[in-house]
Amino acid sequence: EIGDIPDLPEGVPEHFREQGIEELYPPQGEAVEAGVAEGESVVASVPTASGKTLVAELAMLTSVARGGKALYIVPLRALASEKKAEFEEFEQYGVDVGVSTGNYDSDGDWLAQKDIIVATSEKVDSLVRNGAQWVDDLTCVVADEVHLVDSKNRGPTLEVTLAKLRKINHDLQTVALSATVGNADEIAEWLDATLVDSTWRPIDLQKGVLYGQALHLDDGSKKQISRGNEKATAALVEDTLTDDGSSLVFVNSRRNAEAAARRLGDVTRDYLTPEEQTELRDIADRIRDASDTQTSDDLADAVEKGSAFHHAGLSSESRELVEDAFRDRLVKVISATPTLAAGVNTPSRRVIVRDWRRYDGDVGGMKPLDVLEVHQMFGRAGRPGLDPYGEAVLIANSHDELDELFDRYVWADPEPVRSKLAAEPALRTHILATVASGFADSEDELVSFLERTLYATQTDETGRLETVTQNVLEYLERNEFLERDEGNLRATGLGHRVSQLYIDPMSAAEIIDGLRSADDRPTAMGLYHLVSRTPDMYELYLRSGDREELTELAYERESEFLGSMPSEFEDNAFEDWLSALKTARLLEDWASERDEDDMAEEYGVGPGDIRGKVETAEWLLNAAERLAGELGLDSGPAVREAKKRVEYGVAEELLDLAGVRNVGRKRARRLYDAGIENRSDLREADKSVVLGALRGRRKTAETILENVGRKDPDMEGVEADGEVSVADA
Ligand code: ADP
Repeated sequence: EIGDIPDLPEGVPEHFREQGIEELYPPQGEAVEAGVAEGESVVASVPTASGKTLVAELAMLTSVARGGKALYIVPLRALASEKKAEFEEFEQYGVDVGVSTGNYDSDGDWLAQKDIIVATSEKVDSLVRNGAQWVDDLTCVVADEVHLVDSKNRGPTLEVTLAKLRKINHDLQTVALSATVGNADEIAEWLDATLVDSTWRPIDLQKGVLYGQALHLDDGSKKQISRGNEKATAALVEDTLTDDGSSLVFVNSRRNAEAAARRLGDVTRDYLTPEEQTELRDIADRIRDASDTQTSDDLADAVEKGSAFHHAGLSSESRELVEDAFRDRLVKVISATPTLAAGVNTPSRRVIVRDWRRYDGDVGGMKPLDVLEVHQMFGRAGRPGLDPYGEAVLIANSHDELDELFDRYVWADPEPVRSKLAAEPALRTHILATVASGFADSEDELVSFLERTLYATQTDETGRLETVTQNVLEYLERNEFLERDEGNLRATGLGHRVSQLYIDPMSAAEIIDGLRSADDRPTAMGLYHLVSRTPDMYELYLRSGDREELTELAYERESEFLGSMPSEFEDNAFEDWLSALKTARLLEDWASERDEDDMAEEYGVGPGDIRGKVETAEWLLNAAERLAGELGLDSGPAVREAKKRVEYGVAEELLDLAGVRNVGRKRARRLYDAGIENRSDLREADKSVVLGALRGRRKTAETILENVGRKDPDMEGVEADGEVSVADA
């Protein structure tokens, strides 16, 4: 029982009771037995939605009550604020919670005051690199979704970060939360933790495969799903609706999610009460208000009918509105890409895994999803206390496929988690950081540090880690990031800088080369292309027709690019170079005030993607500016200007105005066109002109005038100059 746990802050047991948590779930009980509330390390490998969060909370709260400090590592930035909000419930019992997001190059000193800190592994890694002092005070670290150490891109950071934190404090309590995986015992061995391995779930889960009209369930029973002309997914969604339940549909691409949401809206619309229709219309309006793009419009149209889509291209406001409306049972079905399964807490009566194959760039074709992924989707089925049971369904198109899906996903165990650390790009980054932040000052120490990783626990390929490590050390030495002297290792000033900037050393090398070859005033395009071809900027695919158009652009503006252009005959290099040009042109369009909607259409991406590119470019240009400073190059101001232009999404002439809070790209342009060209104009301008340019929005005008430091921002009695449409006012 929770009341029996010593060291919980006063009031917390009662708090849990009020939340309906009276008794511990069996896996939670096992974790407490293993000492999770007494500072012991535990790996909890239990199904989705089986109460892992409480295990983490017990560990962190007791650690804090004993005078310690806890860190909760989330796998996705989107989850950081959600977790923070959850933990803030404990602030009334004297526990301070902080979330660390934002730039990767600060030390976050203010976090020293907090008892529980929430951050992504990348953020923690960068805080350690920047010498955050409070890291030394940590007594408890929780790694959520620790099975993601298996991920090629992000796994190594989590792995190395845990190894570093455990090296700083040998007694650090480590609590790792994992989906059910095949080899949780290896993770426990790596972390010197007790394993809690359970398949218990708070609500029954039935798994099955639909073939024709028959839903074959894993207990051997069959259910009839009536479907006239309906497609399988629509029939399943409708069947759930007749039982007053909601469905979650997993598909393999954003476009498919949007298309499915549109089609399923025709099913759900007939099941809405008039009150629900009113509330949904209201939510749809808020989605339209939140962002002015085709994607939001499409989403709002679907939501009005009780259907929604969910993918990483949505703005965070829209995403939250959709998730809340689903939890409130207003939205009856969400069509989602797998990101939703990775953590957002949106359980549903029925989960439908419509696509079990996904396009994979590495194999150049469709690839079956991992069992682990499909089981995590399954795990979203069933809301404890609300649904009698959860149901997870795959769809077969032939009798053979029916058998295959049972074997592949229903009966199968998830695959084991494997470390991806031994890959060169991962080691390049982490070895430099490990040396630069003082975790190893010789090759021997480096190797013994790397032996604290999961990779070392798992590998029986002796020598592989040493070989890759040697290659990486040579690369870092050649690029003047590291110095080696008889087995001793030392990061150079440049190496320290690169590590703190949190960029791949290869990106740094590319940027340095480019800047060195440039004159004092490289163009924005030249700089955008430079950062777009680094490994830290993910590529935009070239579509048919792109190649020709981009090749033409490449020759037209050849003089602007920094460094040499590969020849058209070097197929792959040229293709990559063009793909970077596509990104660079997107950035240039954005910095030339092109409409977001037009851009999304032209580049075939969602508004979230444009933001993603813009943010990455800002970060890399910031790094470029610092590197220029470090190397004493004169291109710093040009880099800074290019950075500001992507940051605000405006042409050069608007930079001053767009920097004023609440102005933004569109308003800056309207003010400028009304003759207000900079901040001092704005402070002096005739109020009626300002109001006219801001389309008669008094409140906005007052806020902006206040922000620019005008003494008399009051707009009372001012009439807007120029035509103001009724809708705008
Ligand atoms: P996980 O992190 O494993 O995916 P959560 O921690 O989000 O799952 O738990 C799912 C739900 O179960 C939450 O709404 C939580 O409040 C509830 N819950 C957790 N533990 C208990 C318990 N012991 N008794 C009742 N409800 C619980």
